[in-house]
Amino acid sequence: MSPRPRPEILSIAPYVGGESHLPGSNRVIKLSSNEGPFGPPPGARAAYAALAEQIHLYPDGHATELRRAIGRTFGLDPERVVCGAGSDDLIYLLTLAYSGPGTEIIMSAHGFAIYAIAAQYAGARTRKAPERNLTADIDAMLALVSPATRIVFLANPNNPTGSMLPAADVARLRAALPPDVLLVLDAAYAEYVERPDYDPGVALVNAAENTVMTRTFSKVFGMGGMRLGWAYAPPPVVDVLNRVRAPFNVNAAAQAAGIAALAEPGWLEMSRAHNREWRRRLADALSEAGIRVWPSEGNFLLADFGTTERARGADAALRAHGIIARRTDGYGLPHCLRISIGTAEECEAVAETLAAFMAHEPAHA
Ligand SMILES: *Cc1c(COP(=O)(O)O)cnc(C)c1O
Repeated sequence: MSPRPRPEILSIAPYVGGESHLPGSNRVIKLSSNEGPFGPPPGARAAYAALAEQIHLYPDGHATELRRAIGRTFGLDPERVVCGAGSDDLIYLLTLAYSGPGTEIIMSAHGFAIYAIAAQYAGARTRKAPERNLTADIDAMLALVSPATRIVFLANPNNPTGSMLPAADVARLRAALPPDVLLVLDAAYAEYVERPDYDPGVALVNAAENTVMTRTFSKVFGMGGMRLGWAYAPPPVVDVLNRVRAPFNVNAAAQAAGIAALAEPGWLEMSRAHNREWRRRLADALSEAGIRVWPSEGNFLLADFGTTERARGADAALRAHGIIARRTDGYGLPHCLRISIGTAEECEAVAETLAAFMAHEPAHA
């Protein structure tokens, strides 16, 4: 006899992140994890380095200064902010705290993979609602609500599709859900949204006690390696998260770097402006090459090659040029590739490589 976990745990397929290496290439263009093209903000690098002298000290278990900085930057009450080791940490905590055996969570068919993994860990069942045009369909999500429903997850904008629901639709979803169902709005890409009808979820969090917004430092702040995210939540949910989280779940370096990143002059504006320009330019170039590109409000594009075979060919062509995109087979989209918006040169390399690839493809597969 040997120790065994709960049986459902062994049927979890571990999360597969974007690849970082190509055999035989020592310089790769990594566009597989939406990490942003600029590296970390300079102030965050300096804060991280300066902390080296103090890593014998435990971090502030309440991340007080960081929560204050988040509150100042985003105009939010720091008392309603809880930080985590990435927003994944908070997603796991919410799932474990609010769902469990005999209960269900709802997500959209091509929604972010972590929700289903966390639910399985919690022992809950995941119900996936079909989408329309690779966009979450509120009515299909509502049709899955049952007395067993505990949490509805909505990534807005969604990864890997890039699609976004307007604030009015999200409000309609909230209004039609039973009040005791927790709505988790995952706004990891909020900073990149250009559409004026967007809201990351603040108003809904403020309006009642059953909606949470999660955010991350992994995308626009270029700090994926630090593992830093936060939730904005109503007081009862803040209370629950503070009971179940590990006491020092955000390490000292992440706190220091996060505070500095928020203070970096012009960083958000610069990142947004670059993303706005190159998301459009890359989308135009790929469309011109004959590739369908789904509308994206994130820092990536979902390129749709129509068939799995052609997507494989495109992936191979990119790899041959040292470019790593993200395969989306695990998301039920084997005919697509997700490509992060990189630097101007990186976007140009993607556009050139895929245009050359398409030029050798038969016109219609
Ligand atoms: C990248 C991403 C996150 C962020 O995860 P972290 O744990 O904060 O790095 C969360 N949700 C979605 C949809 C993402 O794409």
